Amino acid sequence: MGKILEVSNLTIHIKTHKGTVQAVRDVNFYLNEQETLAVVGESGSGKSITMKGIMGILPKNGKITEGTVMYNGKDLTKYTEREMQTIRGSEIAMVFQDPMTSLNPTMRIGKQIEEMLKAHKMDMTAEQRKARAIELLSLVGISNPEQRYKQYPHQLSGGMRQRVVIAIALACDPKVLIADEPTTALDVTIQAQILDLMRDLQKKTKTSIIIITHNLGVVANIADRVAVMYGGKLVETGDVYEIFKNPCHEYTKGLLASIPKAHEKGNRLRAIPGTPPDLMDPPKGCPFAARCNETMVVCQQFMPEYSDCGSNHKSACWLLDPRAKGGKA
Ligand code: ADP
Ligand code: MG
Repeated sequence: MGKILEVSNLTIHIKTHKGTVQAVRDVNFYLNEQETLAVVGESGSGKSITMKGIMGILPKNGKITEGTVMYNGKDLTKYTEREMQTIRGSEIAMVFQDPMTSLNPTMRIGKQIEEMLKAHKMDMTAEQRKARAIELLSLVGISNPEQRYKQYPHQLSGGMRQRVVIAIALACDPKVLIADEPTTALDVTIQAQILDLMRDLQKKTKTSIIIITHNLGVVANIADRVAVMYGGKLVETGDVYEIFKNPCHEYTKGLLASIPKAHEKGNRLRAIPGTPPDLMDPPKGCPFAARCNETMVVCQQFMPEYSDCGSNHKSACWLLDPRAKGGKA
């Protein structure tokens, strides 16, 4: 299976009155056709800004300063806003965390799906659009789609609203679906349902999916591969089985340890002590050095390169690099 999307050396800066945030720092990853890639990392790691860069929807003060986003043999970073409008929604669609902000509260949900079709499928008649909207509602598991079609967002539960948002995203059969924390705003049981839905939809529609989450626990059942981001950097990538079985980066190990276990009472997360680096002034070495139990002197001074830790599995950590023989800091 070929690569449908390939991001190389992506670097994104956000200018603020306090200084420049180096939100995304030299990030490389790819998405294969028909696979699900999970991008995982704590809040502030640069996950959303990476995806917004790909979609051409960065905040006004944000800019791609380096790198390419290859889609279909073309570099999307070279596209004008007008050209990106033909890609967004029809080729690459995005689902955001909070369905309420994605939906228009004053418009019936059926109409909102039809708006998407109107924008990209000019040859469809009104009847065809309606039929497709109802078909999509049914595809995302909404019962009585004919009745729901006429309802407003406030008449639906949070989980249903997120299903509608996914229906809108899938309306034009995009090749790539990017879902940014699609379940974070939902109850735990509903979260599982939406993830199951996304997995089923992936099988039915053959869409390639990037799912972003700060919870590594949710990816085991849905992702084929995992990319771990931290401090604006991609620190580890590998097949999902490899990441769970043989995590190589100390940050990934920390994330795995913080997944709540089913037999443990409550949902207490054993969070990694410390806080992520300030991307206004990122560390010159490994971004995780300050929180890592295994830190060596070299970690604080130089950025580690990627080491192979298995087939299709890479991690940027000095512990894996034979050149680093220094003692602990
Ligand atoms: P994640 O999605 O992993 O939680 P983000 O991609 O949203 O992280 O953010 C990456 C970095 O960019 C963070 O340091 C965040 O504070 C900063 N950032 C995000 N959006 C903005 C913005 N609009 N203005 C300034 N800084 C921003
Ligand atoms: Mg985010």
